[in-house]
Amino acid sequence: MFAQSHATTVQRRAIAFALCLCMAAPALPQNAPLPAPLPDLGDASESTLSRAAERALGRETMRSARAQGAVLDDPEVNDYLQTLGQRLVAADPTINEKFEFFAVGASEINAFALPGGHVGVNTGLILAAQSESELASVLAHEISHVSQHHIARQYAAQTRAGYASLAAMLLAIIAGGRGDVAIAAITGANAAQAQAAINYTREHEHEADRVGFTLLERAGFDPRAMASFFERLQQQTRVLDGNAPVWLRTHPLTQTRIAEAQDRAFDKTYRQVPDSQEFQMVRALLRSYEGDAAQAVARLAAELKEGRYRDRTAARYGHAAALLRAKDLVRAKTEVDTLERDGMRHPMIEALAGLILQQSRDYAGAIARYEAALKRYPDHLQLVYDYPRTLLLAGDPARAVRFAEDRLLRRTDDGDLHQMAAEGYAALGQPMQSHYHQGEYYAAQGNTKGAIEQLELATRMRGGDYRVMLIAESRLRELREQQREILKTGRASASAAISARSPSLRAFTRD
Ligand SMILES: [Zn+2]
Repeated sequence: MFAQSHATTVQRRAIAFALCLCMAAPALPQNAPLPAPLPDLGDASESTLSRAAERALGRETMRSARAQGAVLDDPEVNDYLQTLGQRLVAADPTINEKFEFFAVGASEINAFALPGGHVGVNTGLILAAQSESELASVLAHEISHVSQHHIARQYAAQTRAGYASLAAMLLAIIAGGRGDVAIAAITGANAAQAQAAINYTREHEHEADRVGFTLLERAGFDPRAMASFFERLQQQTRVLDGNAPVWLRTHPLTQTRIAEAQDRAFDKTYRQVPDSQEFQMVRALLRSYEGDAAQAVARLAAELKEGRYRDRTAARYGHAAALLRAKDLVRAKTEVDTLERDGMRHPMIEALAGLILQQSRDYAGAIARYEAALKRYPDHLQLVYDYPRTLLLAGDPARAVRFAEDRLLRRTDDGDLHQMAAEGYAALGQPMQSHYHQGEYYAAQGNTKGAIEQLELATRMRGGDYRVMLIAESRLRELREQQREILKTGRASASAAISARSPSLRAFTRD
């Protein structure tokens, strides 16, 4: 669950059109010259953009994207994508890149791959997929762009675009999906230039379809899903009167592509692949975020009443989530009670139940609930965050800090946990620890300047823990070095603009 204000759909559309900075062959205007076919670059790509450089570029882009709030702040949705994506990656033992899958809160149907294995998926695409296999087919396609090093190859083909502008362009891609004017202004990327530099060629698209198909099948998904999703998107384009979804505009579906996807699936034996419970639950959660809260409640209530759903548990869960969003805590609790009376157990239901108690200010009830749930689902991130947050609200910073510190042993760069630790230590009157964790929080958010300021404060404190002082000093050196690197590689303007914004602390209450 997340709290975020969204630009209106109209704004997002307009901006997406203006930028159109996606990473694949765009629909060119009728009279535009077709791009010249690229020479076969083979492994020459590695010399222009090394694996290490690719990873660094990906990390930098992600840092900026996080700083701008372009990554959906919802551990349940991100966790789900991560699990689904890793299942596909694991199906091919020759893939040795590390992948990170994340959601972008945007209604545009889009997905994209960044260098270094970061794959973004718009929430609009998750909702457009009619089955988990369809969603997986797009992920498989994007994974293949990464595993086949298409980005590095494109880079090699466009050496005129420098490292710095490529970073800016990649950020603009995420902006294209989310429609954030701020990012576009910061990156200052020229749309046409950016597009030319990172468009995939038709050969790359063909290869990503082919390799992705194999991945989809090996991972045990329905291999026909790729063709069916392509077809649905194509139909949608006709309905939308030429206003194709972003992913389609950047991945023009020629009849050939659809026919090939069908051909590949033709001789595959029919395989009924049921959707996971998580797929249904995550979609229900995303639907509870659509429109204003009252509209979401009305829509989901009607669907539940009229039986217009594929999964009853998910439908009821979505209704409960919408009710919580509308602050109708009594009815939200009734819905969760009904789910539990029916014997439904799921970590997302546990997290929702805890949040309803927390929002009802029944902190003792919420804490007991979280503690029981964490025994069952110790790694469900929503629970891992909501438990210490509730302890802080309940005025028990000592326990909140203990829990956060314990989890930070394994999740050393988890911004949320650092932020709660910072708040807890502040409440306990331990400013050195508080500034240290606030610094780590900023660092995780991509705000290097803010992180340095906080760590400087931490090292100036007297009477704190000597061990923390040493850690803070060492991190300070690292971050100053990082800052120098950023300036050196000419990304100063973007980075400075990002750091100048004082990131607001994450809200405790959800929308
Ligand atoms: Zn593609």
